[in-house]
Amino acid sequence: MAVKNVLVVGGGITGCVAAVSLAQRGVKVTLVEKAHQWYGVGHGITLQGNALKVFNLIGAYDKMAIKGQGFNELETFTAGGHQIARMPIAHAGGEDLPATMGALRSDIQTVLVDMIHDLGVDVRLGTELTGYTNNASDVTAHLSDGSNDNFDLIIAADGINSTARKMVGITHDKKSSGLGIWRVVTKRKPEMDCSGLAFGGPEYKAGYTPISEDLCYAFVLTKPQRPDNGLSDADEMRRLLEGYHGHFDFIRENLKDDDYMNFTEIEWLWAVDESWHDGRVIVTGDAVHACPPLIAQGGAQCSEDAYLLAEYVTRDGDLDDLLTQYEERRKARTDLVVRNTLALVDLEIKGGPESGQEAGKIMGMTMGAMAQPW
Ligand SMILES: Cc1cc2nc3c(=O)[nH]c(=O)nc-3n(C[C@H](O)[C@H](O)[C@H](O)COP(=O)(O)OP(=O)(O)OC[C@H]3O[C@@H](n4cnc5c(N)ncnc54)[C@H](O)[C@@H]3O)c2cc1C
Repeated sequence: MAVKNVLVVGGGITGCVAAVSLAQRGVKVTLVEKAHQWYGVGHGITLQGNALKVFNLIGAYDKMAIKGQGFNELETFTAGGHQIARMPIAHAGGEDLPATMGALRSDIQTVLVDMIHDLGVDVRLGTELTGYTNNASDVTAHLSDGSNDNFDLIIAADGINSTARKMVGITHDKKSSGLGIWRVVTKRKPEMDCSGLAFGGPEYKAGYTPISEDLCYAFVLTKPQRPDNGLSDADEMRRLLEGYHGHFDFIRENLKDDDYMNFTEIEWLWAVDESWHDGRVIVTGDAVHACPPLIAQGGAQCSEDAYLLAEYVTRDGDLDDLLTQYEERRKARTDLVVRNTLALVDLEIKGGPESGQEAGKIMGMTMGAMAQPW
């Protein structure tokens, strides 16, 4: 094996899947996460089949599926609530798995964190990577707790606000997409049993994904800045949902002031033309390819990254060659996702009568490509 002792930086989807996959292959893993608390609250997440495939490969899917809600279709509506279509979604993880699963992020995280602990990973919460030194045969990680430990490899999975990205020499930085999103975890009706999207309303789009027997994760895609109208979070979401009907009437009418909700500007980043690694340090996940969540492929790409990276660096061979091969393979796949997602962002902002149909084509083509072997 090219590596036997690895530091993973960041305990999001990328870092957790990397830590589990490496530990399962017999690598000694240390994971540093700057947050002091790891389990915690979180929004809903739509996990496409290719994410489920990775979770299945590491033995996490069955545990996640107990709480999540699997489904195979996508329903589209007019803003007035009339159904436009109910269409199948490509099974990007194979026919044995649902095409998609909605879940609470905290439930997904809990399964991965429990596995990390069970596998004996050395977890250091409240600890950051502050720098590193590449040596002849290993790399020294400089950590915020004052320690300077040596590893065969550092995998930096520190998200869109990555500091490791700059350390390895990547100059790309995150950019605004021109979109903002309100999200809430709230009640759903039984017939809201797959993802639903409403087009043509006053905002860019409204949608929901079922995440359990009785809950959904609902969202409104809107302008990137929150208006200064003095409304509470819940009242602002109610206001934005006023122009959407059908199931969205139910969401609006049942929204509680203390439902978990927030607004965020959507940003993106694509470090396509720069190396993701410097000696024995590689940056991966959202830290190098954060895409707006318009095809719900962010988490899927991150989990593929992490699983494949563990597979590459546990092969025999020269580590630099293996990291270069990994990077080339991942860049080809994530390029399609990031570029198509940015095309969808343009269509959202441009609007017009043809944009819904064009967006459907791009989404279908991307999901079809994700169903191909990686
Ligand atoms: C609004 C929104 C909705 C989305 N919806 C979906 C969806 O439905 N489906 C989907 O698949 N994807 C979705 N995504 C994308 C998905 O959330 C991301 O692609 C994915 O979570 C990124 O995982 P990551 O582990 O790379 O980064 P992160 O989740 O950001 O994790 C990085 C971790 O590193 C830690 N960290 C940072 N710096 C340091 C440091 N120096 N030292 C130690 N630790 C550090 C952070 O605390 C964090 O825990 C969405 C994204 C957004 C913005």
